[in-house]
Amino acid sequence: MASKAILFSYTNYPELNANLEGAGVKMSQESMLRHGSFTFDLQGISRAASHQIVRHRIASFSQQSQRYVKVTRSYGYLKPPGVPEDLKVPVEIKGHRLDLNFEDVMDLTRQAEEGLVSKGIKAEDSRYLRPNAATTNIVMSMSPRQLIHFFNLRCAPDAQWEIRDLAWSMYAAVRLASPEVFGPLPAADESDYIKKRVSIVEDLVRKGENGFSKTQPGELFRLQLQPLLELVHPVETFVRHY
Ligand SMILES: Cc1cc2nc3c(=O)[nH]c(=O)nc-3n(C[C@H](O)[C@H](O)[C@H](O)COP(=O)(O)OP(=O)(O)OC[C@H]3O[C@@H](n4cnc5c(N)ncnc54)[C@H](O)[C@@H]3O)c2cc1C
Repeated sequence: MASKAILFSYTNYPELNANLEGAGVKMSQESMLRHGSFTFDLQGISRAASHQIVRHRIASFSQQSQRYVKVTRSYGYLKPPGVPEDLKVPVEIKGHRLDLNFEDVMDLTRQAEEGLVSKGIKAEDSRYLRPNAATTNIVMSMSPRQLIHFFNLRCAPDAQWEIRDLAWSMYAAVRLASPEVFGPLPAADESDYIKKRVSIVEDLVRKGENGFSKTQPGELFRLQLQPLLELVHPVETFVRHY
């Protein structure tokens, strides 16, 4: 299952600047970073990644409830691409040895969680069986200044693959939506890895501009990042056109 990074809503800088200039206020580049908000709808990401994301404190979050969303509807999971399909590990349960792959363990925990719910245990307690791989949806809003801080940390090669893929997708989305405020990442000055990828994003965004400009207001434009950006796992990237 692919994750999705949707840039759902964002400050319209050309309009904001024009309105402010009409009122006699000229915004510097630094001021623009302070005045603005970008809202992402991140779908189908693991609880491991969402926990890393909410560590970024200068942001607002709304996360799908595990207490109230029915297990059967919400319980997908994200398998790390580094875990081979056919890799099995031995587990012992009450004297019985089983060889289980990643999927088997996910299925086991899902069945156990649903079993508890069917026996009348509250969803808020049954969910304690849910693993870090279980997927969730989270809406996140950040100012451009904090987003740049987030990208500098999470686009770096030492960031974990899932949050790093999300960060690159989000960076590409804001570069397409708001080139006035998002340029090359400051971290590119110190990392050839980031520098190379920033230039790949620049090319991909340039290729996407024409299609984006033709997208109807309110509709989502899909920004094609693969295979050039070499994300470790599939992240479908969308930008709403205003
Ligand atoms: C590669 C990597 C590995 C990591 N590994 C771990 C790990 O093993 N364990 C772990 O616990 N975490 C880990 N983290 C998370 C990390 O410790 C931070 O929680 C996360 O990066 C957010 O940090 P931040 O403070 O820079 O950002 P934010 O929380 O977004 O804050 C941004 C800036 O705002 C300011 N600020 C925010 N809140 C306050 C406040 N209350 N008072 C004053 N100033 C404030 C600070 O100047 C801060 O730098 C890791 C992060 C990365 C990128």
